[in-house]
Amino acid sequence: MSNDLHTPDAAAPYLEGLNGPQREAVEAVDGPLLVLAGAGTGKTRVLTTRIAHILKMRRAWPNQILAVTFTNKAAREMSNRVAAMIGSSVDGLWIGTFHSVAARILRRHAELVGLGADFTILDQDDQIRLIKQICGEEKIDDKRWPARAVHAEIERFKDRGLAPEENGPSSGAFADGRIGSLYRSYQDRLMALNAVDFGDLLLHCVTLFRECSEVLASWGDRFHYILVDEYQDSNVAQYLWLRLLAQGRNNICCVGDDDQSIYSWRGAEVGNILRFEQEFPGARIVRLEQNYRSTQPLLNAASQVISRNRKRLGKTLWTDVRDGRPVAVRSFQSGEAEAAFVGKRILELQRRGESLGEIAILVRAAFLMREFEDRLIDIAVPYRVVGGPRFYERREIRDAVAYLRAVAQPADDLALERIVNVPRRGIGDATLAAWRAFARDRSMPLQRAARQLIEAGEAPARARAALGGLIAQLDRWRAMNVPPHELAEIVLEESGYAEMWKADPGIDAPGRIENLEELVSAIAEFDSLPEFLEHVSLVMDREDGGGREMVSLMTLHAAKGLEFAHVFLPAWEENVFPNRRSLEERKEAALEEERRLAYVGITRAKRRVWVSHAASRRIHNNWVSAPVSRFVDELGSPDVEKARAKDPAGAGMAEWDRVRPGRGPGYRRMLARRRGRPSKEQPLRITEGMRVFHLKFGYGTVRYRRGGVLGIAFEKAGDKEVEAGAVEPV
Ligand code: ATP
Ligand code: MG
Repeated sequence: MSNDLHTPDAAAPYLEGLNGPQREAVEAVDGPLLVLAGAGTGKTRVLTTRIAHILKMRRAWPNQILAVTFTNKAAREMSNRVAAMIGSSVDGLWIGTFHSVAARILRRHAELVGLGADFTILDQDDQIRLIKQICGEEKIDDKRWPARAVHAEIERFKDRGLAPEENGPSSGAFADGRIGSLYRSYQDRLMALNAVDFGDLLLHCVTLFRECSEVLASWGDRFHYILVDEYQDSNVAQYLWLRLLAQGRNNICCVGDDDQSIYSWRGAEVGNILRFEQEFPGARIVRLEQNYRSTQPLLNAASQVISRNRKRLGKTLWTDVRDGRPVAVRSFQSGEAEAAFVGKRILELQRRGESLGEIAILVRAAFLMREFEDRLIDIAVPYRVVGGPRFYERREIRDAVAYLRAVAQPADDLALERIVNVPRRGIGDATLAAWRAFARDRSMPLQRAARQLIEAGEAPARARAALGGLIAQLDRWRAMNVPPHELAEIVLEESGYAEMWKADPGIDAPGRIENLEELVSAIAEFDSLPEFLEHVSLVMDREDGGGREMVSLMTLHAAKGLEFAHVFLPAWEENVFPNRRSLEERKEAALEEERRLAYVGITRAKRRVWVSHAASRRIHNNWVSAPVSRFVDELGSPDVEKARAKDPAGAGMAEWDRVRPGRGPGYRRMLARRRGRPSKEQPLRITEGMRVFHLKFGYGTVRYRRGGVLGIAFEKAGDKEVEAGAVEPV
């Protein structure tokens, strides 16, 4: 309470600079409080400052404060900020994601819900394997109701906080009306294994709190203050968990923005935030209206877009930063030209001294990242993929590349081992072990060993047939004389690998199929399979550049809560964004969620936003022409510029647009580093006669050097004088 604040502001410098409502939200530490406010208004800052304030005022010890954030990374960031504000460490603070905190609580009382304290948290693959077994035993038709679909359905029950007996009659026709009993069997099996899945972490806690009043009382008593960020994306189970924990002391502060609710497809309930006042009687609501992140033109654009949504509370947002450029909208002929443009702009920003860490490329779907990754590698701009593996590190891409390696490199045992039973071919562990031993004894690669093993008749007939089939396929693919991307398509089809994901109704399967198709598109840019494989191994070899500043590449979903000076929002095309699949599945509600994603994207930017779209894009290896996204029209009055259509054949690409993956200076530098030659850290001195690359003028040969200026005969652009720093030796 503010009247407890005997300390003058000088002793609480962290309060300085807060605006009125922010300060109110920081100081009103007792009772339920909801901060409901638009993007960039300082909600997260209020939360962090509030923790500092509670500690500084000695209202609680760190271990009496529970703060729930969206990612573990956000949690670390928050505790660092609190520490900086109060000038001492905050060890003991309970801060983390819903899952991590719930797991910690559950471990202490596992036996009360029938688990051992050392329970295992199963990963998704194991969860699905278990469900597959159960469905098999219960004779569920796995063509109609595959294990992944059953798994997804059970997860939704858990999101809603429902135990097996609570799923009600609405479960309807799914799995012939037997989802309840499948869910029950799954839970029984998990218990028998002393295991839980992610949803259980919360559900078991809720059960525990409901059934053991003394346990609930002890936790309710411990947490004097509870704080929750991004509350709009909490689900029902999380809400129930919070409410039980908060009912003791009733000091709960949630912050969120209904316009940024983007996880309803994963069970998030925006209703949680809309009903806060009813659920926590006596709640105080604070609204923040001043945005400290973005310029006025960017806020205007974001507000214009989101104002089209009907289901929203509606908020005012303003900023002191009047100046600023409107959202830039750029049109391109192809996705490749778009990526080239983004790459070029990033280099310009870098040259102007902007930090790469202040630049982000935000995409609607993960498969769209590949074009940018390859481009950034080419122009030697370090980047990180936030919230997921980089394209070539994804499981399905590694699998597919392993197939191609097994084709192109018959002695590559690691590749073969990766795919030998993916999809399942009935090659059992015993056969595998015997096969490996056979190969090792004779010091020969597995593929060759397999041939001999089969001839010698040394494995069970079924395993021999499976193994023989795979080896014969590899031989046949190897002998094919087709372009590499066609070969990749053939391999993915004939091996059954693509089919494996197509038959898989899991929530991530469509994304994986998109990635595989994107891989085929990527390969189409190479002349031969070995060339492509070399590219991949270099990409995988790239060090993460510990601590170096990097461009961030991520999905819009992963960008929540973050901010950057410069934000690129590519592929604003109908079907891509708004995403067609979502619209088909959930219609109008989905359109509103897509629009919220657009709002999240624009409001990540402090200074500049570039929205772009391409007239045609190779999606899943088909050229598709893409109408401009309706969201572009909704931006208001952006600064629009059409791409220069200089070259009718070249789809409007200038010379620098046409550097293909694996041809640019970044690639060469990696090659050099790998071969132990001088790298970026020891720049080669550029001298006469050297072949160089310039971003705008392309390749050329150095004719003379005059101080910092080079005279270069460019192959396409003719003779030019350029600054030495602007070219790369190749
Ligand atoms: P989002 O909805 O995107 O999560 P948010 O409401 O959590 O945004 P913050 O990230 O807390 O907003 O704040 C946005 C930016 O504004 C941050 O850089 C923050 O430091 C700054 N900021 C917030 N409040 C103030 C203030 N009173 N004075 C100066 N800067 C502020
Ligand atoms: Mg925030």
